[in-house]
Amino acid sequence: MTTFTSLRSSKSQSPCRYRGCSSRHIFYIFLHIQIYKFPDGFPMGGPLSSLVADIFMDDLETRFLSSEPLSPHIRHWSRYVDDVLCVWHGSRTDLKLCLDRLNTICPSLQFTLEIGGQQINFLDLTISLKEYQNVLSPSFNIFRKSTFTGVAIHSSSLHPRAHKAAAVTSAIHRMVSIPLDADARKEETSTIKKIASLNNLNVDIDLMIRRISAHTLLRENRVPPPTNNTKERWLRLPYMGAASDKLASLLRRYGYRVGFYPVSTVGDLVRLKDRSTPLDQSGIYQLSCGMCPAVYIGQTGRKLSTRLSEHRTALKPTSTKKSAFAAHCRSKRHDFNKLEVSLLHACPKGRLMNRLEETETIAAAISRKEHLLNDLSATFVNPFIRYYLGYAPHNTDDNVNIPFPT
Ligand SMILES: [Zn+2]
Repeated sequence: MTTFTSLRSSKSQSPCRYRGCSSRHIFYIFLHIQIYKFPDGFPMGGPLSSLVADIFMDDLETRFLSSEPLSPHIRHWSRYVDDVLCVWHGSRTDLKLCLDRLNTICPSLQFTLEIGGQQINFLDLTISLKEYQNVLSPSFNIFRKSTFTGVAIHSSSLHPRAHKAAAVTSAIHRMVSIPLDADARKEETSTIKKIASLNNLNVDIDLMIRRISAHTLLRENRVPPPTNNTKERWLRLPYMGAASDKLASLLRRYGYRVGFYPVSTVGDLVRLKDRSTPLDQSGIYQLSCGMCPAVYIGQTGRKLSTRLSEHRTALKPTSTKKSAFAAHCRSKRHDFNKLEVSLLHACPKGRLMNRLEETETIAAAISRKEHLLNDLSATFVNPFIRYYLGYAPHNTDDNVNIPFPT
C-alpha cells in the first residue's frame, strides 16, 4: 500500500459520493473492511483505473458542454481518453476563456491547447482542411511521429507468423477504414511496403490490401449468422516453432483456439543486476565425467556449489546422500575431481525449473543415449515436452495418448 502516497484510510461508512455530488469527486475502495479513499486519482495500471477514468472524463465533458456559455462556438467535439479534437468557430480570446473555465472543473486535470489552423495532428491522423469549390472540407492522412522507425518483429525471430505480420496487417486495416484520398493512400501503401521490407516480411502488400478491403466490405454488408451458443475455448501456449503451428491446427479440430506467447523476452536479453558466478546460482546443471563421455543432468534450487558438494559427499561408501554421478565414479573408478560442471539454465525453483530439467534430460537422452547417467524410468516428463521433442519413453507405464509429430 505504500505505492499510493495519497491513500488515506477512513472508517466512515459514507457511500461513494461520485454521482450527483456537487462538490469534489472522491474515489473509494473497500479493502479488508476498511474504506480507503483516493483524494486525487487512481493508481496507474490498476485494473479499475482506466474504466473509472473514462467514466470521470465522460461526466466532466458532459457537464462542461452543457454548462459552458461559449459552447455554441463549438462546431465539433470528439474525445479519446484525454485528447479532444474541437472545431471552434469564434475568436481566440473566447477560446482561451473557454479553456480556462474547462480547467477550473477539476484543478488536478489541466488541458493544454494546440491551435491547428489549416492542419492538425490528432492521435494517428493528420487532418487538413482543403478548399473545394469555395467550401473547406477535411482530408485525412496517417500521422506517424518523427521517432517512428518501422522496426517491428523481424521475420527470423521465433514468433508466430500472425505476430510478425501484425505490423503490416494492423496498418492495412487502419488504412482501409479511413477515407484517405488517392495520394494519401498511395503514400501509406508505400510506407507499409517499407515496413514489410525493413522487417524482411515476405508478403504481397497489394494482395493483402485487396483481401482486407474485400473482407471489410463483406463484413459491413453481411447479414450476421445465427449466434452459436457453443463457447470458443482458448488455450495459451508458448510458441516453439513449426511444431507449435502443427499443434494449433490439431487442437483446432477439437474446437480449441490457440493463443501463442513468445518464450524469450527482451528482459531475458538484458541483465541489470550484477552477474554472479554459475556456482552461486540455482538452476539446471550438467556434470560431465572427465574420463569418459558420461553426463548427468540435474536441478537445484540452492547454490550449485552446495549441490556439487553433496555429489562429492556421496562418493563415500558410508554416505547416505544419493548421486548417480558419484555412483558412476565409484563403480568405474573415474576421478571425480576431473568432472566438468556447467549451469545450463539459471532459474529459481518451480515449474519452469521442472520443465527445463525434463527438456534437457530428454535432449541428452536423445543425443548421448547410453552415456546419460539419469534414471529415465524415474523421470516424469510433461506430455507437451514429449510432443515437442518427439520423445517416446520405452520403459514407463504411460497411457497418455498424444500423437507424435512425423
Ligand atoms: Zn566416467
